[in-house]
Amino acid sequence: MDINEMLEFDKCHIWHPYTSMIDPLPVYPVRSADGVYIELETGEKLIDGMSSWWSTVHGYNNPLLNDAIKEQLEKMSHVMFGGFTHAPAVKLAQKLVDMTPGVLDRVFYCDSGSVSVEVAIKMALQYMQAKDKRHATKLATARGGYHGDTWHAMSVCDPVGGMHTLYEGRVPVQFFAPRPSIPFGGEWNDSEMDPLRELFEKRGSEIAAFIIEPVVQGASGMWIYHPQYLQGVRKLCDEYGILMIADEVATGFGRTGRMFACEWAGVTPDIMCLGKAITGGYMSFAAVMATSDVALTISSREPRSFMHGPTFMGNPLACAVANASLELVSQPHVLPRIAEIQKQMQLYLEPVRHMPCVADLRVLGAIAVVELRKPVDMARMQKLCVEEGVWIRPFGKLFYIMPQYIITDEQLAALCGAMVRILSHE
Ligand code: PMP
Repeated sequence: MDINEMLEFDKCHIWHPYTSMIDPLPVYPVRSADGVYIELETGEKLIDGMSSWWSTVHGYNNPLLNDAIKEQLEKMSHVMFGGFTHAPAVKLAQKLVDMTPGVLDRVFYCDSGSVSVEVAIKMALQYMQAKDKRHATKLATARGGYHGDTWHAMSVCDPVGGMHTLYEGRVPVQFFAPRPSIPFGGEWNDSEMDPLRELFEKRGSEIAAFIIEPVVQGASGMWIYHPQYLQGVRKLCDEYGILMIADEVATGFGRTGRMFACEWAGVTPDIMCLGKAITGGYMSFAAVMATSDVALTISSREPRSFMHGPTFMGNPLACAVANASLELVSQPHVLPRIAEIQKQMQLYLEPVRHMPCVADLRVLGAIAVVELRKPVDMARMQKLCVEEGVWIRPFGKLFYIMPQYIITDEQLAALCGAMVRILSHE
């Protein structure tokens, strides 16, 4: 099959993310990927600025991750988790319990970030039932969030930017507080918490959990907010007997410059969702961390079990590659390197700050966001990026990168340089 035949078949038969089957955006055929480079079937090599949506933090075709999978493949690629356990799953749970903040010491494995959010929500609802808080059946969140595309995850995505209107009447209606308004590095003001306090005061008895992406609200706007907001959330949740769920699917494992974004606030949630980079982006896999209180309360009342158990729960290949990925991310040079990446992106992207098309520049950890004044034409912008030898997929008004942690200074300079050149012609 030549490239054109492949693209034609793809266009006629394969759905891509958030894409029309009548008038799809162009897709670029990839032949292979190695380190920070993605090689197209047409021969171009692109520096990856997206880490394949926050996941491939150690680069493509990483020898250590490859070996971990190969070694596990020789032993067993899969076995059901009902009635069995295995070394890769236990080893991974030990690591996760050690790495995650505070008292998160119970681990539930599942398939993807969205499913981890569903699992976290089910845990919160079962917890409230076990506590005889029968009215606590709703969720609360802040506007501007994104938590995935499954049903309950959708219900806590931003009500304007999300898919609420499309499925009106069928997506559960939840409570929304305003988006955290004070930026990271801004001056904190306690009144920031007033709307959430008011919501909890009025409707607290109906709320099982408050869910939020700590510090960085990602796919719904790439907004980076003051960590003290999370301390406020923790305090209010404690005061009103509401569980706090931190969705660290995107921010976990170093992305914001701390191993987990909650650490910026010194806050431990009751439940934490982890995904994406957990396997170094090798395969879809997620983990939900919970406190003993959550786990034991759920288990203390009928049906005395947590009612979720996917077919591929604890998949040994995924656990094996996750073990290798977490070993890599825990190496002492990684967080300092992410701090350097932040500094370099601040330096290289500074020229865009005063460009007429640019409304804001935000950088934290290995995340850099240029917010434009007008929405971008995604297809046109991607073509320009490919011509510049970089892979960036903007959306809405956001032209942003979250490079791999293994990117070199020169590669990062090239990636940011391409952004500056593209924006200087907008
Ligand atoms: N939560 C957050 C914060 C996310 O960014 C995402 C994915 N972008 C998800 C959940 C859903 O993860 P997945 O796409 O693996 O289902």
